Amino acid sequence: MSDVRIFQGNQIGGCVTVISTQVDGMVHRIMIDYGSSLPGSDTIEDFEYPWEDEPVDAVFFTHYHGDHVGRLMDIPADVPLYMGETARAVMINIQTALSKVPNEKGHKRELEVLCDDKRVRTFHFNGKFYDHVSEIPGFKVEPYSVDHSAYDAYMFLIEADDPEYENGKRVILHTGDFRGHGRRGKAMLPVIRYYVHKNGRKVNTLIIEGTMMSRMDEKVKTETEMMYEAADYLKEHKYAFLICSSTNLDSLASFYQAAQIVAAPFRRYLYTYNEYFRVQLQTFSNTAGSFSDVYQFDNVHRLCLDKELSSHNWERTMTQKELMEKTGFLAVIKPEEWCEKYVEPFVEDYHAGKIDQMPVIIYSMWDGYVREYFEDENGSPIDNKAKNPEWIEFLKKQEYNGVEVKHLHTSGHASLQMLAGVIKAVAPTDEIYPMHTEHPELFEKLDIGEYVNKIVEGDHE
Ligand SMILES: [Zn+2]
Repeated sequence: MSDVRIFQGNQIGGCVTVISTQVDGMVHRIMIDYGSSLPGSDTIEDFEYPWEDEPVDAVFFTHYHGDHVGRLMDIPADVPLYMGETARAVMINIQTALSKVPNEKGHKRELEVLCDDKRVRTFHFNGKFYDHVSEIPGFKVEPYSVDHSAYDAYMFLIEADDPEYENGKRVILHTGDFRGHGRRGKAMLPVIRYYVHKNGRKVNTLIIEGTMMSRMDEKVKTETEMMYEAADYLKEHKYAFLICSSTNLDSLASFYQAAQIVAAPFRRYLYTYNEYFRVQLQTFSNTAGSFSDVYQFDNVHRLCLDKELSSHNWERTMTQKELMEKTGFLAVIKPEEWCEKYVEPFVEDYHAGKIDQMPVIIYSMWDGYVREYFEDENGSPIDNKAKNPEWIEFLKKQEYNGVEVKHLHTSGHASLQMLAGVIKAVAPTDEIYPMHTEHPELFEKLDIGEYVNKIVEGDHE
């Protein structure tokens, strides 16, 4: 007998899936993701998985966002961890940076775990698809790459031994977080058609994310549309600061490419507020960049406005700020007080007549972090638990100083249309478990015909 349990499925983030089966009377389990609830979710404290009473054979991570990997250190040390190779490198970059903060022993330990080749097992691409993981008794796990705001994200097709199902296997598809409107999003439906349904294989159970169910009014644009919108904006604004997640490769590529389109035939430099961000971009150039030039970030420099620069083409040395004012720039900052020192000198130079344009800020993260409150259907304000007061303050202050803040973002999650498309393509025979959603009941409103009857709501513990 196999069993699927989902913990904290009725919230965005922190969802955990445990699948169990039996081999020769012994129970074996795999877990998918063990992350933390996102700020703003209703969960005050994450549930503790009963590791001793119900041990798991392995944990598989769909991608590196904190709501999926955040509690990695709570997993007992003898449990192997499966993840993407680049996802691992990105997580190592994060923990390397965090462990440099004095007294941060926790991050040093996490870094050691991530670097432990015995414990961490990465998916191997064989040129056509990722090798299947078959070493866990009772399970075969097939990782398939999906498009998400985290790079190197996966969905998992799992065959669990179960004599009650056809061929003695229960087939479960766990989508993780995904979307159809990113650069690689178009591949998802063909992957389902040709790999998931290979040789007529049917999926019994579909576990699918539904983040956008609570953001139904959010317009979903493609990454390419956003890139051209950014290029139009950068054409008018030579001095642009950017607020974007260091691990959202596709959006970083959209803005970087937009800056290059505008500067052609020259290159526009990208500046970052710290070394960590630069290293992360380097990792992406070395990995994703080897598949496509879109993901190549050249000419990336750390912000240090007073730094003296020289070149054999120049008659005199220039400070970094002078060079930035001469050539234009795209500079990544954080919406925190200490980053004011990067924006203000350009505002001052504008008022002093040294440059002819004001700097601008492009905000490319979820709007929920910087909104005082949300509105219900009647337009009445509802408390926004996800807001970040420091960020709101930062942006307000910049706008007060006359700096335009442009919101330009696209979601990392599947649109309602994409969710319906995936459900119909997967055609689950038995049940659909919505997860990563505050509104599983809205799945019934999707255009999915007969599959509506297969939706099973609620935490499945
Ligand atoms: Zn995610």
